[in-house]
Amino acid sequence: MVDPSNSFRAVRVGSETGAGLAGWQAVTGRTVVPVTKVPVTYWCPKGHQTTPVFANLSEADIPTSWDCPHCGQTAAREPGGGGAEARSSDEPYKSHLEYAKERRSPDEAEAVVEQALEKLRRRRREALRRAESGRQRRGD
Ligand SMILES: [Zn+2]
Repeated sequence: MVDPSNSFRAVRVGSETGAGLAGWQAVTGRTVVPVTKVPVTYWCPKGHQTTPVFANLSEADIPTSWDCPHCGQTAAREPGGGGAEARSSDEPYKSHLEYAKERRSPDEAEAVVEQALEKLRRRRREALRRAESGRQRRGD
């Protein structure tokens, strides 16, 4: 019996050489450059705390405000501070879904979803067909 999940197994970097990262570096001639990570903590008016991590940013480049992932209000870099003023307009918080709903009618959205599903189904059929013919060639 063939385990169908086998044909879709992902290949990890360096696994062909069996030497992990060092093997990948030897084979590709590329090196991994470490990135300086800068964690910055923001507090929203409701007291939620979030700490996004920025890469290689100077103090001047770090945003002064950040959208709270919990309630969507503007979080500032001091606890309980400046969040309300930091938002330039009085626009209420909108989720990604609400923005998407503004851009498309339900019918248009339906068409986009159908198109994406069809693409997905086609890819899946293709992958199944390839796995099937590979199996036949190996004589499983
Ligand atoms: Zn919040």
